[in-house]
Parts: sequence; structure tokens; C-alpha cells
Amino acid sequence: MSDVWEEARLNLRKAAEIMDLEPELLRRLSTPMRFTEFTIPVRMDDGRKELFTAYRSLHQDATGPTKDGTRVRPGLTPGEIKALSLFMSVKHAVADIPAGGGKGGIVADPSRLSEGEYERLIRGFIRRLLPKGAMADVPGADIGTDARAMAWMLDEYEQISGCHSPAAINDKPAALGGSEGGHEGTGWGVAEFAHLAATELGLSGGRVAVQGFGQVGSITALTLEAKGYKVIAVSDLTGAICDEKGLNVKELLAHAAKSGAVSGFAGAKPLPGPILGTDCDILIPAAVQDVIDATNAPGIKAKLLVEAANAPIAPSADPILLASGKTIVPDVVANCGGVIVCDFERTQGLSNDYWSVETVREKLMSRVRRVYLETKAISRELNVPMRQAAWVKALKKIRAAMLWRGWS
Ligand code: NAD
Repeated sequence: MSDVWEEARLNLRKAAEIMDLEPELLRRLSTPMRFTEFTIPVRMDDGRKELFTAYRSLHQDATGPTKDGTRVRPGLTPGEIKALSLFMSVKHAVADIPAGGGKGGIVADPSRLSEGEYERLIRGFIRRLLPKGAMADVPGADIGTDARAMAWMLDEYEQISGCHSPAAINDKPAALGGSEGGHEGTGWGVAEFAHLAATELGLSGGRVAVQGFGQVGSITALTLEAKGYKVIAVSDLTGAICDEKGLNVKELLAHAAKSGAVSGFAGAKPLPGPILGTDCDILIPAAVQDVIDATNAPGIKAKLLVEAANAPIAPSADPILLASGKTIVPDVVANCGGVIVCDFERTQGLSNDYWSVETVREKLMSRVRRVYLETKAISRELNVPMRQAAWVKALKKIRAAMLWRGWS
């Protein structure tokens, strides 16, 4: 099994070497500023008390309050949470968001908990963590947590603190101060990055394959279809379907919402081979990490790969893909639309000025275009792939903040 924490630090070391980062700063960034492991006692429906293990990793806060998701899944490891907090530092800095990197998690399987048990677990997370609020550390959602869970987190936080503080928790419902476009932000961003890169490569309006048809994959596919791309193959955990003429993504969404799966969609055929090897122009892995490794990388036919998921391309696959002339838009760039809208959510909560969905999208697109152009410029200047360019862009920002604070 891959070591995600080591893989994350490999990216850090590569970028540090390119920009000649001070050894003291590299040492500090190679470990979280603070890592907490704690337990949450939960009264189960049958009267037993069960103890769940939880984590919160604060990678660095030189660039602003630590922010981001809370992952709840069985088998969650401290290394995964540390790696994700480092990714959050980098993603925020790449996207010019004045925030540090944070990530939390609970080792639990939400599907095995009753609604009451899950609510007590989520509320217990906040009671035990006692986050310090919008100016310090802002938990958000991730795998295993949704708007409902974030509403409970906010309610628990506000009950404890005795103050209304919508900016203290991200990814909450609009009724509690959540942002318009919170659900779509990542997918809108992925689609725009794909479009910008495709346009440069002469692939505008090209043929697209999307692995994963959840929140990110479905919105990405829908947005690309609206921009004139042909989505010819889509997969989820239940299977993969294709249509050379282009799938009707809106109808596919309705089918998947009703049946819970992409397979069985009328008019489409089952895809004969693995989706990652689809003969297409643009491949968008939007499911889970490490799906492309040294074994299947040589079979990738797409010319452009846009990492909608976090770390879908293992480090062993990167050089193989680059050597065969593929362009990769890396995760810290491709899926940063989500963190940008999260930052908009905090800004709206702090100012009590809530924006329309049109305003959110317009501001997001303008930021996405700037991130793309700036990362490409570094990539050209240093003659390095976009992944290293993005990490260098982020490290330069974090480095400047650390140096001004006298942290070296
Ligand atoms: P989701 O749970 O809504 O959807 C995941 C989809 O992937 C589902 O359709 C599932 O069936 C499919 N899937 C899972 N394993 C698969 C496999 N091995 N092969 C094919 N399909 C598979 O998740 P999401 O929110 O869409 O997130 C997708 C990825 O994007 C994750 O890696 C997540 O960490 C990353 N991400 C999400 C956001 C966000 O805003 N949701 C932001 C940044 C990054």
C-alpha cells in the first residue's frame, strides 16, 4: 500500500530542491506544526459506550488560519491526515488564499452508524477538538462528512462558544451561512482548468473520459459538455459506460440519481476496457488516489490528464506519462475550485454579505484563470512540469510568510 504522507513529502522535497528552499524551512514544513490524536466517546443506540479515534493535523499557519476538511472513514491513518494537511497548505497557497493547511478525521464507518450515533460522533468531534474559530482553525467537510454533518459541527461550536460564528465551520448549508456554489465549485474549477489546458493543446471541444461520477466527476462532465466537449466515457464503482457520439450528461445525472449507478443508462454501451485506457483526448480521474501507476501508465491514450481527485497519479507514473508527451494538470491546481469557494464562504460569513451563485461563479472563474496562467508561467520559466511549478508557486508564498515572521 502506498504511503501518502511520504508521497506528499516527496513532492515537497522536489519543489524545495528546485527553489533552493532554506533547510530550516524544509524541516519545519516536513512535519505538521501541530498534530492531535484524541478519542471521542459515543453512546451507541444499544446503550454501550464506544470510543472512536480522531485526528486534526495543522500543517502550518504562517499564511493564515488553518482550514479544511474532516474525513470519516474506516482505516483512516494519521499519515493520510498529515499528508492532506500539507496538501491543503499547498492548495491554498497555489490559489492565493490567505490560509494555512488543516485536515481532520475520525476512524469510523458512517454507513455502520445510525443517524443518532453519527450525529453524536460528529458533535463529539467538535467538543473534543474545541477549534478556536474563524481566525484560527476552520474545519470543513471531506469524505464521510456532508452539509448535514457540518451543520451539527457549527451548532455544537456555537453552543459551546455562546456566539453565532458562521465563518468558524465551512461547507455548511446555505441556511446557516454556507456559500452558493459550494457543491459545484470543485467541478466548475476542474472543467475550467481542463478547458484552459485543452485550448493550449489544440484539444478544445475534444473527447473526454471521466473516472468517478460523484460530486466532482458529474459536475465536471456536465460543465465540459456545456462548453462543447464530448463526454464519451464515464465510470463509477458499479461499472463504466461509453458512447462515441457523446453521452447526454444531464440525462445520465438523472439516471444515476435515480438508480445510484451510471451503468444501465439507456443509449450507452458498457465500456469494453478499463476507463483509464480509453482512447480519448482528455482523461479526468475524479474518483480516488493512486489509480494510475507504473503498470497502467503506458496504456494511457489521452493527451491531457486533469487530476480532479487528490493524487490519482502515483509518483511512479508521473515520469512515464511525461516522457510520452502527456500534459498533466496536477491535483493542487485542478481541484482548487473547492477551496476557493470555501474561502469565499468564510469571507461571506465574516462580512455578513452573501453573494449570488452568479457572483460566486464569476469570482471563481477569474481566480481559476489567474492560477492557471501563473502556474504555467512558472512551469515555462523553470522548465518543469506543472506539478512542480504549482508546488514551487505555493512554497514561495509560504516561504515569504515564514521568513517575514522570522521562522528560519
Ligand atoms: P464522491 O464520493 O461524491 O464520488 C466518488 C465517485 O468515484 C463515485 O461515483 C464512486 O462510485 C467513484 N469511484 C470510487 N472508486 C472508484 C474506482 N475505483 N473506480 C471508478 N470509480 C470509483 O466523491 P467526490 O466528492 O466527487 O470526490 C472525488 C475525488 O475528488 C476524491 O478523491 C476527493 O478527495 C477529491 N476532491 C473532492 C473535492 C470536493 O469538493 N468534493 C475537492 C477536492 C478533491
